[in-house]
Amino acid sequence: MAIRNIIQTDDPVLRRRSRPVEKFDDRLAQLLDDLIDTMTKAEGCGLAAVQVGVLRRVAVVDCGEGVIELVNPEIISADGVQEEQEGCLSFPGEYGVTSRPAIVKVKAQNRAGIWHFYKADGLKARAFCHEIDHLDGVLFQSRVIRKEP
Ligand code: ZN
Repeated sequence: MAIRNIIQTDDPVLRRRSRPVEKFDDRLAQLLDDLIDTMTKAEGCGLAAVQVGVLRRVAVVDCGEGVIELVNPEIISADGVQEEQEGCLSFPGEYGVTSRPAIVKVKAQNRAGIWHFYKADGLKARAFCHEIDHLDGVLFQSRVIRKEP
């Protein structure tokens, strides 16, 4: 396990699309362990592999109920709208109110390649959307509808 450096500049890599994971090997497990450690140390509730410079469709989310591993995640349905303050570990000190779905259903593999289904609302729904956006090179700033809550 290791803490990796989070990209905290407006690096063009953050706007690139990540590639699907095909091998569920020790390297993937190491990446997930490192993402979990790095997210926990930074006190974030989500972190995508691209934020540590790895262009693979891998992210972790922890909204206080334990870590969820998102490998090749996809939003399978989205309902309603929520408008809440949002930030990003890659842009410390930068916040804005985003428009996100109120409820999402997501499917994702874990480190073993097993598919899991998640239903989330509130902060967890936002975290899923935020991290999946990262895998498509989309930053939260493009979802900001206003600067003040
Ligand atoms: Zn982010």
